[in-house]
This record gives sequence, structure tokens and C-alpha cells, in this order.
Amino acid sequence: MTEIFSGSFTQQEPIPEEAIEAAVAVLRHGRLHRYNVAAGELGETALLEQEFAAQTGARYCVAVASGGYAMATALRAAGVRPGDTVLTNVFTLAPVPGSIAAVGAVPVFVGVTEALTIDLDDLAAKARATTARVLMLSHMRGHICDMDALMAICTAHGITVIEDCAHTMGAAWRGTPSGRFGLFGCYSCQTYKHVNSGEGGLLITNDAKAAARAVMMSGSYMLYERHLAAPPPEVFESVKYDTPNISGRMDNLRAAILRPQLRALPDQVDRWNARYRALEDGLRGTPGLQVIERPAEESFVGSSIQVLLKGWQPDAIGEVVTRCARRGVEIKWFGGAEPVGFTSRYDSWRYAPSAPMPESDAVLGAILDMRVPLTFSIEDCAQIARIIRAEVGAVWQTGPSGQAVAGG
Ligand SMILES: *Cc1c(COP(=O)(O)O)cnc(C)c1O
Repeated sequence: MTEIFSGSFTQQEPIPEEAIEAAVAVLRHGRLHRYNVAAGELGETALLEQEFAAQTGARYCVAVASGGYAMATALRAAGVRPGDTVLTNVFTLAPVPGSIAAVGAVPVFVGVTEALTIDLDDLAAKARATTARVLMLSHMRGHICDMDALMAICTAHGITVIEDCAHTMGAAWRGTPSGRFGLFGCYSCQTYKHVNSGEGGLLITNDAKAAARAVMMSGSYMLYERHLAAPPPEVFESVKYDTPNISGRMDNLRAAILRPQLRALPDQVDRWNARYRALEDGLRGTPGLQVIERPAEESFVGSSIQVLLKGWQPDAIGEVVTRCARRGVEIKWFGGAEPVGFTSRYDSWRYAPSAPMPESDAVLGAILDMRVPLTFSIEDCAQIARIIRAEVGAVWQTGPSGQAVAGG
């Protein structure tokens, strides 16, 4: 019997009842704008910032309109100017180089290893060879590099780190939350991330001046005293005349939806990881397929899973993807020449020209990537692993249309 998986890879869980009630309360009083508060009232957005700062152990937090907006704001607040170069991961998604382009700067891509993290040797080489003084570090698909080694390299070269934590909200390296290593940590609250307000973003930092700039830029006008996780007014005094307003605030409706979800995050992380481990267990040992071993220092969030088909011919990988799709299993491939859906490669971002990176190409061309929504049961994950295992096995044995699978 051929099993077919019938679940949806894009269906998230419903918004929790507690969050729906909080949203309805905001709708009933009508004060959706974050600075529109009744006398003595603490708005949902200010409370969200205070709670997320406490949750991550950061001093300051600013809630904004999207993850991409958070990253562009962090770059501006870090002093990146038009024409500057900014280092970033070659294995990432379009909003990351996009945030660099948004401030008129130029991305310089750093390679990826088989652990799917940034290549630290390439980072050190590019830190020496370029004038870039900022690294936009993308913890792509939740894989965290050796942060101690990365920070040592960046400190030695005077490079400021900004962390893209779109896939690491709730994750940590050696017990320190992802987002707490760099000047800023940037998070997305978009539907496909770890909390869901449709759209939304969060920025954290311990730097008072950078926090004040981010608050001003987000569109605080001169109402920054209504923030609960911002530096004191005297810090704003020092930046308020030369920081432009680039509106991208969060509103109280989305903040109301997010607060209960953030409280539930640790439990959700456990549920994601149980699903991840079921997939990983089912895939481990498949001939021709390599699972990504996670370092002991990393506490990750298994909201997606990646495996490598190393050294496979592109046609053979395409065949695996097609065969899995026929059985209801949606896999993305990072080796495709054309950008598809959310997946694209550095050579598709033609506004950011780059020299070819053959070693990274070999890794990117081998990555199969799959979302793990919490609407999947553990048994669903075991079934998906069985299907992938069978289809990889079938192509591995016969090759696509009888051709060799590996080599070339
Ligand atoms: C989703 C995402 C972002 C940005 O988030 P938006 O809220 O969609 O702007 C940034 N980086 C990565 C890796 C992402 O997947």
C-alpha cells in the first residue's frame, strides 16, 4: 500500500482563545494606535515590549510592523549609511539582503557550511578583505553557529553584529537566548514564524542610544515616554533632533494577540521539537541522505527541518521532490535555478551581485527543506519521514529515468 499524506504544510494552529478575547477587548474600546491610551492605561504594545524584554533578558524592546522592518531599523540605528557594505549569510531568505538594500547598503555574502550555519573562515576572510563593519547574521532555519567563535571574530575585526532571529525566537546558544549576542536581535511575528499576528516584528537591544534611535525611527513622534521597555527620556534628548521618523509601529490589536502566544512559547517549542525528533528519527540512516546533527550547545526550535542529498545530480533531487509531492509531502529545494515561493538563492538577488561561491553552491544545491507546522501530529511526522525515506530510496537505487544519481 502506498501511503499518502493529507495534511497541510501551511496550516498553522488557530489563535488561542485568550488572545482572541484580548483582541476583542481592544476592538471594543477602539484604541488601536499604540499611543492612544486612556488616562493611566498601559497599552498592549508597551506591555508586549516589556514582557518580551523580560523573556529574553534584554534591557530594551521595540515592537514594529514586520521582521524586515526590524532588521532595516537595526541597520539604521547601528549607523549603516547608503553605499556601505554589510556582511550577511548566503543561506538565508529574501528579506535579509532586502533589509540591507532598504537602507541603500550593499550585501556581501558569507558562505554556508554543511551544518547550515555561517562559514566562520569565510567570515574572517571577508572581514579582512572588505570595509564592512556590520554583520547581519541570519540564524536561517533555526541553525545557530558557534556564537562564541563568531563573536570573537567580529570583536577582533570591530564588526557590529545584528541577529536575524526570525527562526530562532525561543532558541539559545549555551543558554543565552538567540538575539542577545549582537547589538540587536530582530524577530518576526508573521504567520509562518513562532508567534502569529499576521505581520509584526520585535527588536531587542541592551544599548540605550541604539534603543532610543529605534523607538524614534519606528514612529514614536515625541511620545516615547509611553514606552515601558525604552531608555529614560534623557537618552532621547540626545538623539531626537537627528533621528528621522520612518513609521513602522506595531498596533495594540496585534500586540494583544501576541502577548498570550509569547507566554505559551516554551510549551510550543517543546511540541515543535517532539515533531522534529520524530522526523529526524525516521530519516536518520536513509542511504544517500544526511541529517543535520545539532550541536549540544544549541537549544533550537524545530519549526522546520532540513536534510542534505550531498553530491546528488540536480535531476535526481528534482525527482525526489516531485515524487514526495505526489504523496502529499511538500519539500522545498534550495538548489533550484529560479526563485519559487519563499525559496530563492543568492544569485536570484541581482541587485546584490556576488562572485560565485562554489563550496556554498554545493551545500545549497543539496538542501531539502520542510516546514513543520504544529497542526501535524507526531504520527504525521513519522508518516512523512517514511514517505521521504521511501522516495529517496527509490531514486537513490534507480536514478531519475535510469541515470546515475551521484557524481558528475
Ligand atoms: C520571515 C523572515 C524574515 C522577515 O520577516 P517578515 O516579518 O516577513 O518581514 C527575516 N528573515 C528570515 C530568515 C525570515 O524567514
